[in-house]
Amino acid sequence: SLMAVMTAGALTLTACGDESDDAGASGEVKGKVGVILPDTASSDRWESFDRPYLKQAFDAAGVESDIQNAEGSAQRFQTIADQMLTSGVTVLVLTGLDSNSAAAVQRKAQAQGVKTIDYDRLTLGGVADYYVSFDNVKVGEELGKGLQQCLGDEKSNIVYLNGAPTDNNATLFSQGAHNILDKNANYTKVAEQAVPDWSAEKGATIFEQMWTEEQGEIDGVLAANDNLGNAVISILKKNKQAGKVPVTGQDATVQGLQNILDGTQCMTVYKPVKQEADAAAKLAVSLIKGEKAETNGTTNDPEGKRDVPSVLLTPIGVNKDNVKQVVDDGFVKAEDLCKGA
Ligand code: BGC
Repeated sequence: SLMAVMTAGALTLTACGDESDDAGASGEVKGKVGVILPDTASSDRWESFDRPYLKQAFDAAGVESDIQNAEGSAQRFQTIADQMLTSGVTVLVLTGLDSNSAAAVQRKAQAQGVKTIDYDRLTLGGVADYYVSFDNVKVGEELGKGLQQCLGDEKSNIVYLNGAPTDNNATLFSQGAHNILDKNANYTKVAEQAVPDWSAEKGATIFEQMWTEEQGEIDGVLAANDNLGNAVISILKKNKQAGKVPVTGQDATVQGLQNILDGTQCMTVYKPVKQEADAAAKLAVSLIKGEKAETNGTTNDPEGKRDVPSVLLTPIGVNKDNVKQVVDDGFVKAEDLCKGA
């Protein structure tokens, strides 16, 4: 009947309209991004900063996103990835717990035509299309410079508490710190250890053993993030040395900034995570659209023997003189830094 023809015609027109302009007009991008964050215990950053900034960035780009956390389990990481692949994600954004398990997920994704982005941590031997992070050697150099500023040119015994041995970033942080501190003839490295899983508990135990072994002759602690720094400070408190032995950190967490303000922590590294989240979202959208995205360098993966197109951002060293900068940037609220106020 005429009715049926008209209806069919209207439907056809609607469908055509849908495909040609609606997506563009409403700013919606067809495709879904899955994000897997590594854990909740190694740093506040993943749930307090990365998750909300990523959600915001994907929402602003008009992309559907599913953000989950592997809670420190490589098996859970894998399960989440499988669920995301089944649910039809078009791009996966991953912060791996270790390169092997992350690379396995990336290869599975690739086999299904799903693109991947390494978020913050490079997956060695992986197949990610892009890598977005900070210049992590520079992060380490900020740690080294910060500790040097707190120690001055006094003869000092230094210990290093590095991040997880399974995190490529931890290697780069240590490398950067050594770039600075090894040049100072007044400094002696007396111990250096990687802390499995970036665990505060393990970090405290390791540092306490160092303290005992060195009979308290430790003058500075290169702790790779605020979580480990705070663990060190807890042991220094037990020994009535908190505030006397400079301790570094990273992530500009509320705890880390409070420790800086009360004088128990020497510095932290502020990484504007909003920039990192925005960059990841932009890359994801470009992969969905099949367009080439803007990068500002490449990162060599020595295991995969390839250069990964990267967006690398600049970290900022923070001590008590410029804590305000982190507040002004909107990363933390001033009132959150006022303990017991
Ligand atoms: C990140 C740090 C974080 C650490 C522990 C590293 O890969 O770059 O910001 O503190 O992991 O989660």
